[in-house]
Amino acid sequence: MTAAGQAAAVRKHDEIARELEEIEARGLLRKPRLIGGPIGPRVEIDGRETLLFCTNDYLGLANHPEIKEAAKRAIEDHGAGSGASRLVAGTLPIHKELEAELARFKGAEAAVVFGSGYLANIGTISALTKESDVVYSDGLNHASIVDACRLSRADVRVFPHADARALREMLGGEKTAGRRLIVTDGVFSMDGDIAPLPDLAQLAAEFDCRLMVDDAHATGVVGPGGKGTAAHFGLSGSVEIQMGTLSKALGSYGAFIVGSRDLIDLLINRARSFIFTTALPPASAAAALEALRVVEREPERRERLWRNAASLKEGLVSAGFDIGLTETFIIPVIVSDARDCVRMADALLDERVFAQAIRPPTVPEGASRLRVVPTAEHTEDDIAFALEAFVRAGKKCGVA
Ligand code: PMP
Repeated sequence: MTAAGQAAAVRKHDEIARELEEIEARGLLRKPRLIGGPIGPRVEIDGRETLLFCTNDYLGLANHPEIKEAAKRAIEDHGAGSGASRLVAGTLPIHKELEAELARFKGAEAAVVFGSGYLANIGTISALTKESDVVYSDGLNHASIVDACRLSRADVRVFPHADARALREMLGGEKTAGRRLIVTDGVFSMDGDIAPLPDLAQLAAEFDCRLMVDDAHATGVVGPGGKGTAAHFGLSGSVEIQMGTLSKALGSYGAFIVGSRDLIDLLINRARSFIFTTALPPASAAAALEALRVVEREPERRERLWRNAASLKEGLVSAGFDIGLTETFIIPVIVSDARDCVRMADALLDERVFAQAIRPPTVPEGASRLRVVPTAEHTEDDIAFALEAFVRAGKKCGVA
């Protein structure tokens, strides 16, 4: 390498090192923590058995024996990978079966499966909107929706979180020749509150907008039979575009959109994150398919999740913690300052309870929190143990 080349390499390296130092100085450096053992209520962290309170495996299906068996069988029957994108040679019977079951489960005409929730959101929103259109997006929507809006090239209007009145003013205050889309998380991933769907559906009808709901955190766990936020409000027919993930309550990986046959056919033809990516591996599709059956067969899992969430929330509130406005099993324990939040997470881990510190940019500046999530697999003793750990860690860190 020439001297000039060497100097350039050093400069580039220094730039990266400086950027990392800056992230660290703000208390925002992230390092994936190694979790030993299958995902479940108890895992091994740093060589110690630890209670896990921050997954999205709400129903405890990631390690369900029959679901794992279904995944193994799919590998035997179809192979480890799907070999191609869906529109080339990657559509296997297991994909079609899963899509038919998802449509039936959600009471929709049709479904299409994507590689992940992130891909479903960026593909769908950018397929349905273009430059002259406007997307109205809740201020606390998931990052994949934010990125989808950017990618769509439509005009984006961010409405204050869950504020249908403010959205009404925005919709009434502007005329557009293009199409309009309202998009919201069903259950907000970091706050656990539920979108005001009846108001949004009313606005969509009144102002001739499409309505899309991201039910990543509602699929399998919210609404009658776990059918999602629209079903929770009795609005299944009024939400034109419903997204869900296979990776959270369903314990697998991937995501889907359900809607009319035409909507799904359009996505198959237009959504670039469907077209230009390899089809979901057979094992993930089969696991999700079996998980749908478990959701229908074992409703007691949903009941246990909600029961655990209720006692955890009650205990946290009586111990003096601020848990925001959660209405579900996603429980934010607000700590505000990013560094304090990390100290609190570390103190909890010393107590053998793991709840991840969530910091900007995942949440707004000054709104850091522990995202505490029970699952159907936690016992009453686990919840009691976690509450005691919270009290001790809170005292140590001056949080509660
Ligand atoms: N939407 C929401 C609301 C989410 O919370 C997430 C994941 N955290 C996604 C979409 C992305 O889903 P996936 O992890 O399957 O990419």
